[in-house]
Amino acid sequence: MSVGVLALQGDFREHADVLRSLGSEVTLVRRPEELASVTGLVIPGGESSVMDKLTRMFGLAEPLRAAVERGMPVYGTCAGLIMLADTVLDAIRGQQSIGGLDISVRRNAFGSQTASFETDLEVPALGEAPVHAVFIRAPVVESVGPMATALATIADGRCVAVEQGNLLGTSFHPEITGEYRFHEYFLQKVRSAAFRG
Ligand code: GLN
Repeated sequence: MSVGVLALQGDFREHADVLRSLGSEVTLVRRPEELASVTGLVIPGGESSVMDKLTRMFGLAEPLRAAVERGMPVYGTCAGLIMLADTVLDAIRGQQSIGGLDISVRRNAFGSQTASFETDLEVPALGEAPVHAVFIRAPVVESVGPMATALATIADGRCVAVEQGNLLGTSFHPEITGEYRFHEYFLQKVRSAAFRG
């Protein structure tokens, strides 16, 4: 049983390393056959408009939508969160998402002045210790629909982490900070989905 990382673009190697360090076997997913062989998928950070184009070009967009609808656990970070959002604000012309999360996200929500920053977040679902989060040209979740749940907000109240059933999304990049609780939380979803069959 192997967990997939969408490996068309972005920082997929870092996610693969984290998942391996947590004991998972990892498959880099670039083709529909590879997607069909995994029990969960991480969509990394990168550039969502490019990832969208490559996903369609490689014939992965429809299989991915179908996998999300079937309930496969999927964790998206940053550009990956954008890919999972039902609505994308400030998208480039023609940009599509896979969808699944009942949210709207705004790309590059912190503008070019604050392209990157770090902060500590309270994430009650992951326990008491705060999560150190690195934001890089990050999106924010502008609205959370009734199907989705906010897991964390920054100081000004904007939402940066969400969950909906087997879907998980963060605006930031736990894979580069040594903070693996989000990956562990995702792997729990993978294990329970596999257990239920
Ligand atoms: N700004 C990027 C986008 O719109 C996301 C940045 C990231 O993944 N670090 O896709």
